[in-house]
Amino acid sequence: MPTPIKQNEEKNQGNDIKSLDPNELFQKFLSKVKSYIKNEEALANIEKAYNYAHTKHGDQKRASGAPYIIHPIAVAEVLSELHVDVASLIAALLHDVVEDTGTGIEEIKAEFGETIADLVDGLTKLAKIEFRSSQERMAENFRKMILAMARDLRVIIIKLADRLHNMRTLESLPSLKRRRIAQETLDIYAPLAGRLGIYHMRSELEDLCLKETKNEVYKEIARNIAAKKKERETYIKEVKEILENELRKYGFKNAKVYGRPKHFFSIYKKMLDRQLAFKDIHDLFAFRILVDNVRDCYEVVGIVHAMWKPMPGRFKDYIAMPKPNFYQSLHTTVIRPNGSPAEIQIRTHDMHKVCEYGIAAHWAYKEKATPGNGSTDLEKFAWLRQIMELQHDVKDPNEFLAAIKVDLFDEEIFVFTPQGDVHPLPLRATPLDFAFAVHTDVGLSSVGAKVNGRITPLRGKLQSGDIVEILTSPNQHPSKDWLNFVVTTKARNKIRSFLRAEERTKSKEIGKEILEDELEKKHLNLNKLISNRQVEQLYKAAKEGTLDDLFVVIGYGKINVPELIEKVFPEHTLPQTKEIKAPSHVPKSTGSGVLVSGLDNILVTFGRCCNPLPGEDIFGFITRGRGVSVHRTDCPRALDLDPVRRVKVSWTDTTRRVALHRVHLRIITLDRQGVLAEITMAISKCGANIQKAQVKVSNDGKGILLFEITVKDLEHLTSVMKAIASVPDTILVDRQS
Ligand code: MN
Repeated sequence: MPTPIKQNEEKNQGNDIKSLDPNELFQKFLSKVKSYIKNEEALANIEKAYNYAHTKHGDQKRASGAPYIIHPIAVAEVLSELHVDVASLIAALLHDVVEDTGTGIEEIKAEFGETIADLVDGLTKLAKIEFRSSQERMAENFRKMILAMARDLRVIIIKLADRLHNMRTLESLPSLKRRRIAQETLDIYAPLAGRLGIYHMRSELEDLCLKETKNEVYKEIARNIAAKKKERETYIKEVKEILENELRKYGFKNAKVYGRPKHFFSIYKKMLDRQLAFKDIHDLFAFRILVDNVRDCYEVVGIVHAMWKPMPGRFKDYIAMPKPNFYQSLHTTVIRPNGSPAEIQIRTHDMHKVCEYGIAAHWAYKEKATPGNGSTDLEKFAWLRQIMELQHDVKDPNEFLAAIKVDLFDEEIFVFTPQGDVHPLPLRATPLDFAFAVHTDVGLSSVGAKVNGRITPLRGKLQSGDIVEILTSPNQHPSKDWLNFVVTTKARNKIRSFLRAEERTKSKEIGKEILEDELEKKHLNLNKLISNRQVEQLYKAAKEGTLDDLFVVIGYGKINVPELIEKVFPEHTLPQTKEIKAPSHVPKSTGSGVLVSGLDNILVTFGRCCNPLPGEDIFGFITRGRGVSVHRTDCPRALDLDPVRRVKVSWTDTTRRVALHRVHLRIITLDRQGVLAEITMAISKCGANIQKAQVKVSNDGKGILLFEITVKDLEHLTSVMKAIASVPDTILVDRQS
């Protein structure tokens, strides 16, 4: 049994100071390693890696001024607490050598072998990834990370330890950088640690992020918890004793009870979710009971429920239905008479090991074990495999990102077929998601569902434990609307590919008509061109593989047909006697200030749904006959638009921004005389035009002003909003669309 990992109250904070002696730190780390690795050769290799890294980093310093080598030692130490294998420890010691000292990966390979070189190489590549800037880059970086994970999951475990130590020692960095790192950690690495089952690491990362990003809240929680230290200790001791006595009475001599306050971030989330102040949060404590076997777990939960009233809806059986990361436990929340609610987790000692080490348990060092290779173990992680498949299937970066967020970071619910088969689904899944999980054909022909025997629409929300029966009809076909409420990637992809096939058929018909019309204008006949095989020249000139493909791209409006015909059959050009009219589906120049695939002569309209402004991230969507419609990358409609018809667009430089853009603003003010006039003045002073204005007074006597104004670009809008906000008695200014 490995030594239990320390709770997160001691965070080794501030150990990154100049006075620390690397050799001393290394010895401390080595003694931890020796507690579970006895093999002399392995220990010698670890020492060799340390000396190598120490020499390579030389007198490099961290931002704090401490010797750089302290960082890799600390990362390795975090990992030793997870009892990872020798290769991971060595790779941790070497993880910044290639990145920071210009050493070649070949040299690492020669010195330490291929496995370690691969791990270091993976970490070097991950070090270059930053999860910010545009959605597209972010999705691309996600892809890279997933690939690194797929090759060898140890890379990610080491990366998490690296991030943990960097978070623990943030204070020497400039505040902007600190916030960026904390936000990235909160968005990506903390959920990943949770998904990999390394829960104590997730908690610590989250708390460190909270301290950085919401320092006031962090301090408030810390202050409150510290103020009640005595009370808290008494409470934990009391509950622990009652539980222990009761369990002993029933003969559970080996049962161990632990109590602790919940971590800060989970308290913060609860305050946020339920809009509560700290003083209104009562379940601040969590208790854990460890027993010998599964039967004992269920018996113990029975005893607990007989003693204290369970809170309805809070009992969760992750033993019968383990989480995808193999987490197993029973969870319940009970209310003591005149006491606050307490969360109680009950599991076996073995299950607990999995909770503490998570995925790392799979690489836990075992004497005589052959060094593990990531790929075989990967097979066990269904969710990771799904993401791997996804990254082949989904080419659109925004869609990929959205799917990852659902698949990687959301909690599961478990739903049953009437036959008792269980399907794990993400939170907020609908009966339609369930239908697609059962079988694609069931999904495609769903008309409704019975949830626990009651008729429920396909868009309803499922709960864990629901029994779902899907009603189907052979006449049913997926509709676009379905995309608005399904949450699983599988359902979304299947619906979309059905709609795409349908749309392709339609586009083919339209494209064929357009081509026939245009050919006719030049006295050419499509059927003739087909029979004498000249049609090949047409679709080859358009770089399409078949005539059908050509029809489709014409139907989508992606091709200038007269130009194509002119290029292939120039001798058929008629003398230009008639007025030249651009065909309706050929976009023309508008000076909209947007480049479509680098061209500025394409007809462009702006999505009414999001009214993009110059300076914002945008994408284009090819409409039929109306040119390209431009949306903000974060437009809620963006995901529903067919990715096949998506095109890259960009703003032209400022000097060419001639068009004015409509924006809706909502302003809330105190109801004071003259405030409207002052705001109107502020807007005009900034050079923006007011198109429409509406004024209301709310029940609590506040003024609500709705303005439609036109601005030049994002910068312009920002200056207008600033000017409004500086008018006295303005409470809030926000952009509606
Ligand atoms: Mn590092």
